[in-house]
Amino acid sequence: MSVIKRIGTKLFMVHAEPKLVVAQVQALSTQIPVLHLILIADAAAVAYTHYGVAPDWLTILPFCFVCLACSSRIAFWARPYGGAIDASEASKRLKGTTRVTVILGTVLSAWTIALSHYGDIGTQMHAFHFLTVTMIACVFCLMHLHSASLILGVIATPVMIYFAVFAPSLVSITAINFSAIVVLMIFMQSVFHRDFRDLARANEENSRIANVDPLTDLPNRRWFFTRLESEFREALRGQTAFAVGMIDLDGFKPVNDALGHRAGDEVLREVGRRLGSVAGIGQVARLGGDEFGLILPGSADLAKTGDAILAVLNRPYDILGSAAQVGASIGFAVSSAASQSHESLVERADYALYFAKENARGKAVVFAPEHESRLRGQSVIEQALRHADLDAELSLVYQPIIDLGAGRAIAFEALARWDSPRLGRVSPADFIPVAERAGIVQAITHTLLPKALEAMHGWPAPTQLSFNLSAHDIGSPEAIAQIIEIVEASGVAPSRIILEVTETALMRDITEGARALLTLRSIGVAIALDDFGSGYSSLGYVHRLPLDRLKIDRSFTANICHDVKGQAIVKAILDLCRTMEISCVVEGVETIEQCTLLEAHGCSVMQGYLFHKPMTLVETKRFLGARFGSGGVPVRAEMAAVA
Ligand code: C2E
Ligand code: CA
Ligand code: CA
Repeated sequence: MSVIKRIGTKLFMVHAEPKLVVAQVQALSTQIPVLHLILIADAAAVAYTHYGVAPDWLTILPFCFVCLACSSRIAFWARPYGGAIDASEASKRLKGTTRVTVILGTVLSAWTIALSHYGDIGTQMHAFHFLTVTMIACVFCLMHLHSASLILGVIATPVMIYFAVFAPSLVSITAINFSAIVVLMIFMQSVFHRDFRDLARANEENSRIANVDPLTDLPNRRWFFTRLESEFREALRGQTAFAVGMIDLDGFKPVNDALGHRAGDEVLREVGRRLGSVAGIGQVARLGGDEFGLILPGSADLAKTGDAILAVLNRPYDILGSAAQVGASIGFAVSSAASQSHESLVERADYALYFAKENARGKAVVFAPEHESRLRGQSVIEQALRHADLDAELSLVYQPIIDLGAGRAIAFEALARWDSPRLGRVSPADFIPVAERAGIVQAITHTLLPKALEAMHGWPAPTQLSFNLSAHDIGSPEAIAQIIEIVEASGVAPSRIILEVTETALMRDITEGARALLTLRSIGVAIALDDFGSGYSSLGYVHRLPLDRLKIDRSFTANICHDVKGQAIVKAILDLCRTMEISCVVEGVETIEQCTLLEAHGCSVMQGYLFHKPMTLVETKRFLGARFGSGGVPVRAEMAAVA
């Protein structure tokens, strides 16, 4: 008894692997309706040939039963399940189909045996033929449901034995023959089923690999955006809201630099674990590098969740025996009627993160209505920039850098100007950051640097060019190689070129940054650290960079006459430059008072409106010839005349 029970359980068993069960149902959903149509057609044919030969109840009643049973099964399988069926529903369908196979298989076999007693050999053969054709169709159409095929085999065996023993010899020989075919078909079917199962498993593994970040085991960027899209559609349909969060770690790169990549990986894994422990955080994904994404329910209190996330992430990390400190900035955006797509929602969350990084580092910022106009302004700039004819619309102006000691302009800083046919003149302070975020800034550099180098041919030999580079321009060996190629193609002596980079461009990865600067320097150009003091600079790391010049940000100059602390800082920076034996330029000098005070602190190289505003190329030539040019009038006398 227990053996029969075990066999029965095995036959009716449905796989425990949810993905496999769903795949089986998906494959069967087209085959089963076809199978039932074939059954109806076969039953109609056999009922027709036996009508009038066998009793009517034996032709009409079973035929009606087959029609009813098959139609209801077609209706059941044709029922839509919205493209996504869950595993328990799929499992129910498979079990139901196996049960129906037992009932239909038994009824059809019994019907065939009953019909085989009527008519001549031709009619009897047709009854047997009906059974074999139907069996073959069933085994083929139930290929993805191994248990159903086995059950058919079990049902067919006694039927074939019956025909082999009791039917006329022609039918009996065919029955023996067909038995062999049934065995072969079931064998082939089991091979097919095994391959199908392996394929389904491989597909599942592939989709896991495609959607999971192997380092943290969190869902990855691809999963995040697919999920976001469906979440957005759901929210739109149900008029509900949800929120998106973007997390960017602060201070992760220094940990990576100082403790090595293994330690960096461990920090990322730990961040993943800690994010998972925050209550109400929703779905967490790693978007790449040190960036994580969140999908939160609309009801979430974002300020509270943001604080909870920052609290867990700010705790020290015990990594490979060392303590590491990493923080984070977060940007949130809530879906609303104004968010037209999931991309625009991500754009808002990204903007909030960017805003946090710039203005509230280490904090969480929720995208607010007041950010909207700035973001829209940036989107307008980005769109215009993407469609701009960079070569025609971008130009350069040049601002002299004056050496008071030498009494002349030692260099010109090239500054970008964009005359957009749609937006008019746009300040580089507005379009360069947008170009950086949109990944267009390299195209701008590649347009402007050759123009600036070309301009130098009209300047006397000692006059240098100072040119601004962005983080992207030095972000990869390929990008650096392109800069070097442009410099070498220009024919200008590299010693006449100063490349300005900002501290923020170097801060993300100081080791990489230093390596990039060394490569540039290796061709003979000089490197200036721009806007020094405006960001989160630490004097501590300046010595790790191969620098030739440091430019003190103009925010220090503005109040220098009334700000004792500012004076002390400028003095400290000037001393640092002397110690490091690099030159120092003070930017934004606008008044004689500022100039005199700075000179008293030992600064002799300056730049600012006091000397000249940025000018066109033609004006530079006039300027070089007439005023602070190589053999020009002494600077201070000239300044006095200007004042
Ligand atoms: P920056 O490199 O610090 O350039 C100096 C900026 O200060 C220029 O503004 C210049 O016109 C302004 N300036 C000079 N002297 C004074 C002064 O005495 N007082 C005041 N208030 N401002 C002064 P501009 O041309 O608007 O450029 C803004 C920023 O845009 C630049 O700041 C630089 O970061 C970026 N930029 C400009 N051209 C380029 C470029 O070709 N490539 C890249 N990557 N960035 C550029
Ligand atoms: Ca600059
Ligand atoms: Ca600057």
